[in-house]
Amino acid sequence: MTTHAVVLQNVRAVYGSGPRQVTALDGVSVGFQQGTFTAVMGPSGSGKSTLLHCAAGLDRPAEGSVTIDGTAVGNLGEDALTRLRRDRVGFVFQAFNLVSALTAQQNVELPLRLAGRRPEPADTVAALHAVGLADRARHRPSELSGGEQQRVALARALISRPAVVFADEPTGALDSTTSRHVLTLLRELVGKHRQTVVMVTHDPVAAAYADWVLFLADGRIVDDLTGVTAESIAARTALLESAC
Ligand code: ADP
Repeated sequence: MTTHAVVLQNVRAVYGSGPRQVTALDGVSVGFQQGTFTAVMGPSGSGKSTLLHCAAGLDRPAEGSVTIDGTAVGNLGEDALTRLRRDRVGFVFQAFNLVSALTAQQNVELPLRLAGRRPEPADTVAALHAVGLADRARHRPSELSGGEQQRVALARALISRPAVVFADEPTGALDSTTSRHVLTLLRELVGKHRQTVVMVTHDPVAAAYADWVLFLADGRIVDDLTGVTAESIAARTALLESAC
């Protein structure tokens, strides 16, 4: 049995071709242990989003392998990969839009319905309540603020209990109180439910909620820290950025 929710081995990711080719990930090997919370940090352009997209099976790397919840992604056809993402992976992405025609409640229930499971109304209510949106269940995304939409995405990740949740700047659009709330919820996914969370953030305070902080620079992992404070993360970030 694997103890890693996601493993990347020698992953190289490139954009474009010929002289304009950009290497976004340059031979990254990393394993995200089940039941842990990892923050991925690094300067803009260091490859954080690409890492998240490859690790989540949204992009296929040029070289190397990605294993999600014990399944090697490289061997899967598009349909099987879509099913794996739907059933085993949760996304809390700003750009990962909710379905505009559906209410908050319907958006939360969508992954279960797509997987052919019938959502328990009490579970949906509990998930919306957990993110502080119990009174917004019937609102559509256009009637919600950016932060509220982000929390609907989080409720969606709560209800379907995916093995691994990827979050891209989940607190970027939120005020500090709501940010703390969202980070505490992500922490609880790990602490209470043994889910695995991988979060890209530029915020040392957010990263301090994680068990493990990875630092990327120029498409490589250049450092990692465990059990750290926001201050020590900020100091490490400042050092990395001054080296760029
Ligand atoms: P980060 O999330 O750390 O800002 P990215 O993963 O978005 O970094 O980008 C890594 C590198 O790949 C950067 O040099 C960026 O300019 C480049 N890149 C990202 N997306 C594309 C794209 N769609 N086309 C071309 N280059 C890209």
